[in-house]
Amino acid sequence: MRFGMDFGGTNVKAGVFDENGSILNFTEKKLSDLAASGNLLDNLVKYAQLVIGDCKIDLGGFAIKGLINSDTGVLENDIGAGQMLAGINLKQFFSEQFGFPFQVANDARAYAWGEYKFGAGQGSKALVCMTLGTGFGCSLVVDGKLYFGSDSSGGLLGGHISIDKNGPDCPCGNKGCLELYCSATALNAKVKKLHFSMNETEDVLPKFFDSVKLGNENCMTTFDEFINDLSIGIVNAIHAYGPDVVVLGGGVMNSADIILPPLTELVHKRAWTVPKNKVKIKKSLLGNNAAAIGVAFLES
Ligand SMILES: [Zn+2]
Repeated sequence: MRFGMDFGGTNVKAGVFDENGSILNFTEKKLSDLAASGNLLDNLVKYAQLVIGDCKIDLGGFAIKGLINSDTGVLENDIGAGQMLAGINLKQFFSEQFGFPFQVANDARAYAWGEYKFGAGQGSKALVCMTLGTGFGCSLVVDGKLYFGSDSSGGLLGGHISIDKNGPDCPCGNKGCLELYCSATALNAKVKKLHFSMNETEDVLPKFFDSVKLGNENCMTTFDEFINDLSIGIVNAIHAYGPDVVVLGGGVMNSADIILPPLTELVHKRAWTVPKNKVKIKKSLLGNNAAAIGVAFLES
């Protein structure tokens, strides 16, 4: 059996899986609860032990946002929640704590690997996986291998490809990054500002997509802008990496039925370097579980 934990910007997910990637146990907890008191690493270990229970695990994995040194398993830097664990050799720590081998990977890479092994990217020769979440994740699997480039960051920073040189400053140092327009966080903030109360604490995106379905004109304008922005980002990735499949994940893709048709049409119109209709744009099959499953099946 395999164990995987996905340390996200908002939630921490953990599951036990059989050798076919089927879920035997899966739960999630708010990161704020795990970080509220005591030592975060100790709390993660306790949470993992609870999920594992009596299961006999052969290999475990820990997925986290940020750049992981793939040789050492150390989280080298991060500008978000992962800062709390930066500089720690997580691979060594978890392997010693649990007594079975542990892999550590960037969460977007783990997500792509999950989709490649068991999800919408199965059989792909060159897979680009993008996740619209707290941030905007991006990762590649080429010829059956995760792509790393010359260091830890290869292919990961698709969310920080600029789509507007006059756009807002991004925390990464660039301007007008795709993440600032198309992450779930960015879209949620824009939709709240334009169409709902700024005081709304809940995720307003399901209501927004319902309004788009009903043909609300104001919401349609925002939706069209989102599709336009996302298509530019995807076309950039297609021109850079030449994928045959692009998998899109994140809660936003619960509305894939209205997102994918106009998005696919725009991408095919603009991605002129590849034969029309060659690139398939798909919704993630594993969804919320993809990164935890993917990291549980990474072999060193
Ligand atoms: Zn950026």
